Amino acid sequence: MSETTETIFSKIIRREIPADVVYEDDLALAFKDINPQAPVHILVIPKQPIPKLADAQSQDHQLLGHLLLTVKLVAQQAGLDNGYRVVINTGADGGQTVDHLHLHILGGRSLTWPPG
Ligand code: 5GP
Repeated sequence: MSETTETIFSKIIRREIPADVVYEDDLALAFKDINPQAPVHILVIPKQPIPKLADAQSQDHQLLGHLLLTVKLVAQQAGLDNGYRVVINTGADGGQTVDHLHLHILGGRSLTWPPG
């Protein structure tokens, strides 16, 4: 099993701190990023706090698939019909700052490549 960590995202899941939640189900929560890098910037997180993608285990495969399908649904709801980017920053070199797995949905403008 993954080591569980308490982060600000756990507090958002428990509604102990406010967030602009756009989607929720039994396994996942989606909310707007507090520091948006694009006109649409939404984070999709598992309610089960896997610290980072590198900590995911084979038994998490259903949850990971669910998170991707949640991204698709949330992006549709956000009207990102012209495309969007999904980013998972992982670990220090990946630029991860919150140790609770999260998928960034970025859209609403044309995004450049490669990232910095
Ligand atoms: P990372 O750099 O770990 O991939 O992304 C963490 C993201 O969480 C950042 O884009 C940051 O703006 C966002 N974030 C950090 N704290 C909060 C918060 O309290 N509320 C919300 N909505 N987003 C947060």
